[in-house]
Amino acid sequence: MNYETTIGLEVHVELATKTKIFCACSAAFGAKPNTQTCPVCTGQPGALPVLNRRVVELATAMGLALHSKITARPRFDRKNYFYPDNPQNYQISQLYAPLCTGGYLDVQTDEGEKRVRIHEMHMEEDAGKLIHMEEEDRTVIDLNRAGVPLIEIVTEPDMKNAEEVTAFLETLRHRILYLQASDCKLNEGSMRVDVNLSLHEAGAKELGTRTEMKNLNSFRAIRRAIASEEARQAELLSKGERVIQETRRWDDVKEESVSMRGKENAQDYRYFPEPDLPPLLLDQEWIESVRSSLPEFREEKILRFQKEYDLSLYDAGVLCAEKSMADFFEETAALSKNPKKAANWLMGETLRLKREQNLPEGEIPFSPEHLAKLIRLAEEGKLNSSLAKEVFLIMFGSDRDPEEIAQEKGFLATADEDSLRETVKEVIEENPVPVEQYRSGTKKVLGFLIGQTMKKLGGRADPAMISRLLTEELGN
Ligand code: ADP
Ligand code: MG
Ligand code: ZN
Repeated sequence: MNYETTIGLEVHVELATKTKIFCACSAAFGAKPNTQTCPVCTGQPGALPVLNRRVVELATAMGLALHSKITARPRFDRKNYFYPDNPQNYQISQLYAPLCTGGYLDVQTDEGEKRVRIHEMHMEEDAGKLIHMEEEDRTVIDLNRAGVPLIEIVTEPDMKNAEEVTAFLETLRHRILYLQASDCKLNEGSMRVDVNLSLHEAGAKELGTRTEMKNLNSFRAIRRAIASEEARQAELLSKGERVIQETRRWDDVKEESVSMRGKENAQDYRYFPEPDLPPLLLDQEWIESVRSSLPEFREEKILRFQKEYDLSLYDAGVLCAEKSMADFFEETAALSKNPKKAANWLMGETLRLKREQNLPEGEIPFSPEHLAKLIRLAEEGKLNSSLAKEVFLIMFGSDRDPEEIAQEKGFLATADEDSLRETVKEVIEENPVPVEQYRSGTKKVLGFLIGQTMKKLGGRADPAMISRLLTEELGN
């Protein structure tokens, strides 16, 4: 039997706000357990939530970035469940009037552009974190994460393979990073992806029964989980058995998923409107002000870079992978008036050293002013290109003035024509054979003679100047 795969995603993203969604506790990651808590986020009776305005702003910006419709009167709902990571025994979420509905994201795959529709997007609070201490045979809880703002993005079941899923998630991730709404780290849990997947016979009108897979901590895990679940369902179906709608937990070490629980229905949670929070009123003017603050996103930036700076699609893509890099490039290009060289330094040496030193995303340890100055020194023939690389190595990390570094190292080109002419004369003397060849018409040996002169000068000269002096001295 020939089966086709259908995939829909539920993506949770932790918003990068200073404080939690309903209290003033810090939402920062990595603090000592249970030091960022208060009566609200630990669910003490009588404590009342107060909504963090910044959460609504960031979530609305994300909704607009996904071309969603923003609900004029979004409300919060109470989702009741018992689980030890949540002392409140309910989660404040949104069901009946979520912040955003509809929308889409166009993503690039090898088969061309693909539109993935968004079903809805809502705000909610995160739960605490259970830590299973296997050696001590007990489980402890850290409530620092309880109340950290989350948004959940639910797609329509529009994807059909791992490539489309990866392309969607990458595009989504870049949008969120460009908005600076989250750091979107799968491995730290600031972005969490649940994969809903079903199979149906090729050509069938109705979709099959789906399962939902959780605990996917990397793009690799997502790809492997999809392959494994496709195979598992195909085997069941080909034996005439049924797929059970359930939640499964992916084990990336064992490379298999195991059933966690049957899929609950919304009914089981006894959702009801959150009595402690009034509905929001988002007027059009406010929504438009959020819209006008949206940044230029990666895809648009790539197109503009290609046109404005005459870069290849590949180069523009590399420079725009991180917004900070794209901004840095534009600043350097403007200051140096040499976009090509700015692109080369950033894509080559900068990325190489960043990788080598394991620098975090967004960090470039020198300023655009200094890179621009280095480019100008090279362009003006004051600093030879291999010496420029050495200066760059020192500049990287120290952010010292490249001219100062070059000066200190004695790398700057001699502009003293008389002394350069002396060296040129020496080279002519020492190389009778090439000189003869040159004089009898083989002009390309000039390059060799320039090289010899530069070598003698330890690179401290402008090759264009040396070329001129050589031609003068060689006659004609
Ligand atoms: P629930 O309300 O039970 O969570 P939803 O209708 O909200 O179910 O769908 C949850 C996710 O499952 C969505 O991402 C959706 O795209 C996806 N989905 C729904 N039906 C299917 C299906 N037959 N196959 C694969 N994914 C599906
Ligand atoms: Mg759901
Ligand atoms: Zn708190």
